[in-house]
Amino acid sequence: MSIDKIISLCKRRGFVFQSSEIYGGFGAVYDYGPLGTALKNNISQMWWQAMTQFHENIVGIDSGILMHPKIWEASGHVDAFNDPLVDCKQCKARYPADELFDGNPEDGEWDNIQCPKCGTTGNLTEPRQFNLMFKTHIGPVQKDANVAYLRPETAQGIYVNYLLTQNAMRLKIPFGIAQIGKAFRNEIIARNFIFRTREFEQLEMQYFVKPGNDDQSMRDWKNERIAFYSQLGIDSGKLRLQEHGADELAHYAKEAWDIEFEFPFGWSEIEGIHNRTDFDLARHQEFSGKKMEVFDQEANEHYLPYIIETSAGLNRMLLAVLSEAYWEDNENNRIVMKFHPQIAPVTAAVCPLVKKDGLPEMGRKVMDIVKPHFKVIYDQQGSIGKRYYRQDEAGTPYGITIDHQSLEDKTVTLRHRDSQQQDRVAIDQLVSAINDSMEHYT
Ligand code: ATP
Repeated sequence: MSIDKIISLCKRRGFVFQSSEIYGGFGAVYDYGPLGTALKNNISQMWWQAMTQFHENIVGIDSGILMHPKIWEASGHVDAFNDPLVDCKQCKARYPADELFDGNPEDGEWDNIQCPKCGTTGNLTEPRQFNLMFKTHIGPVQKDANVAYLRPETAQGIYVNYLLTQNAMRLKIPFGIAQIGKAFRNEIIARNFIFRTREFEQLEMQYFVKPGNDDQSMRDWKNERIAFYSQLGIDSGKLRLQEHGADELAHYAKEAWDIEFEFPFGWSEIEGIHNRTDFDLARHQEFSGKKMEVFDQEANEHYLPYIIETSAGLNRMLLAVLSEAYWEDNENNRIVMKFHPQIAPVTAAVCPLVKKDGLPEMGRKVMDIVKPHFKVIYDQQGSIGKRYYRQDEAGTPYGITIDHQSLEDKTVTLRHRDSQQQDRVAIDQLVSAINDSMEHYT
């Protein structure tokens, strides 16, 4: 299945739009339409709940996108957040250097590498460094002293607030801090739709542990994080854990794993799980001059905790969910987005069979009954078959149809999106019938 089919459905049905389309688009930024926004919110809410509701020792914060610029010196991003890139002088294609060469090539070796696009050799530039952080200036004067960066990850906002959070919430090691928010990277090569963009959202959780307990914690989080994706309706056969080799480890990491999903363009990372040791806290202690240690009462000692990070991209999760849900039901000549009902943008559509005979009025009453429990929409436009198919494409798991029999016996039909099976349900049982079906969805 090609990514183009998903892109086209996303535009047609209001999931994702290219940014600034009327101006010809704006590179590697996307806007989310009504269905995409609802789906994205449902996914992030599920993550938030998994972290802060199901773990008593994980709390959430929301830090600023702009922060003190020294934070990015301490974190290593000012010096190290670079992607070496190579240009082809012949066809102008641009590649991350590591896509063309493993390890560090000697001077001049680039001359022998072929450009994958135009096939010529000897036209590649030497790898050049690019800093991926967006730089801006605070206040009216653009001088170096006023430099600020748009955060390239949400994690640092957690580190610099971790002691305040610990004290405020009286937390004891081990504990975690979760955050959802925008991050920005001036990606030179942005591609694959919403997979790699310049503005994106991260779902990050930093877990603070006593050094020595870090390896076990890493194992636990790997298991927990990969299991999470089944709640999003993602088949475990399309997920895998890949360990970073020693030469791929980021400057802060002792051990790192990626959770990869089999996207239409191949296996790629959705989430990283990293043992960041005490690197970040030690650096902030050094750069700020403030103690970043916790006190262990039992051992009567101060120490810097180690940090296990789970860092996921919300937009990549969304793309995984969209890819997994897309189903061409050739037998019935329809496209169905098979979202798990718990995250579907709309749970049910209420459809009076015809626009007369008192059916719309009854439809409105059914809306009032169901609305407090689920996101429902009312649809009386067009033939009932067309309405169903429209909802199938939007991924709405249930259709509630009011017909003439409804007026007599106060029942409706409940249509199931994937099987198209229809059950007759009493109106006063509708909410529990939907809840029951959602709970047992496979
Ligand atoms: P990649 O190797 O794909 O560039 P990364 O290893 O640099 O990703 P991290 O720094 O570990 O990514 O960021 C954590 C998560 O943030 C990633 O797993 C991904 O889901 C998301 N992410 C990172 N960069 C982008 C981007 N440019 N667009 C969308 N999501 C991103």
